[in-house]
Amino acid sequence: MDLDRHDFELEELMERIRSNDNRLIALQVPEGLKMQALEMMDTIETETSAQVVLAADPCYGACDLVHDKMKLMGVELVAHMGHSQMNIDSGMPTQFINVTYDGDPELSPVLPWLEQHRNMAKQRLVNQDGTSPLSETEAQEKFMDAVGRMAPLTDTKLGLVGSIQHLHLLPEFHDRLEKAGFDVTIPIGGARLSFPGQVLGCNYSGDDPSIGHYLFLGSGDFHPIGLVLHTGKPLAMLDPYTGDAEEMSLERIERILRQRFGLIMSVQDASTFGILIGEKPGQMRRTLALRMKRMLAQHGKKGYLLALEHVGPELIDFYPVDAFVNTACPRIAIDDAVKYRKPLITPFELEVALGEKKWETGYQFDEIP
Ligand code: SF4
Repeated sequence: MDLDRHDFELEELMERIRSNDNRLIALQVPEGLKMQALEMMDTIETETSAQVVLAADPCYGACDLVHDKMKLMGVELVAHMGHSQMNIDSGMPTQFINVTYDGDPELSPVLPWLEQHRNMAKQRLVNQDGTSPLSETEAQEKFMDAVGRMAPLTDTKLGLVGSIQHLHLLPEFHDRLEKAGFDVTIPIGGARLSFPGQVLGCNYSGDDPSIGHYLFLGSGDFHPIGLVLHTGKPLAMLDPYTGDAEEMSLERIERILRQRFGLIMSVQDASTFGILIGEKPGQMRRTLALRMKRMLAQHGKKGYLLALEHVGPELIDFYPVDAFVNTACPRIAIDDAVKYRKPLITPFELEVALGEKKWETGYQFDEIP
């Protein structure tokens, strides 16, 4: 990652520190930017009268805001970098700091993927039907079909989305793509998202039936996997760091769905479950965890509530339970399942295992609204 081409917008933060006359602030930065943190601390301490503590624990999202522990240390303000504000209150005054990257990739490498995906969406628009009742085997097959569960399309628009440091590119790319002949929309999501076109690993709420396929501006496959798992729609990726284009293959998503199917089958006879509750402010789903515990009890099974700040195999594998249900960050169960010795499933997957949800509904991504 070329850090010199990132713009860290510190001015507004320093202005707030000066006007509040803050003496101790905490700086929280995402993992990819930690190398720059000391330099930023020097800048803030030189330009203001505040001392800066780096919140050095891992940080993967705005769900993970520094909270009350820093209050005990006397911290007056938290500066959270590289993520946008969510619909949560950490209990600490927080300044969100934008980070943008100045890369502006060529459109041409991604156009063949977009044309292919638009044709797929048109084909689906014509072929959709699916009201006939399914046998149990057909319903299970549908569950593992990446696109089979997709709600009926009303159009084949191109949904243009990105990760936060590239969102400033979206209006310009919207116009370029329209000139290239695509009908483009920049989806607007729910309260967990701050900007049009924004996606998170746990929230794709801007999706709607008029969108037939997606273009993601960003790097890595974390957001693309979640978006395709959630929507079943084809997705092309254009990386502003490298200019490379590729697609998120539906075969890869179907491999994940087969793995989820296997985990659901494997917990059907389990009788004791650890129910994980995330302690991070934007991952804490206490009501959901309690509902899972009640549901297990109704099926004659036992659920133990386990609250954790960080979730990892070394922190839970040793408990004498048969399986775990995760209500913290949804991606822990999806992306890290193989690291755990015992099955780690999502709340929806538990509902399917207990027969509360039917296979024919298709796979439902565990979204945090
Ligand atoms: S995907 Fe996980 S880490 Fe990322 S914002 Fe959502 S809950 Fe937080």
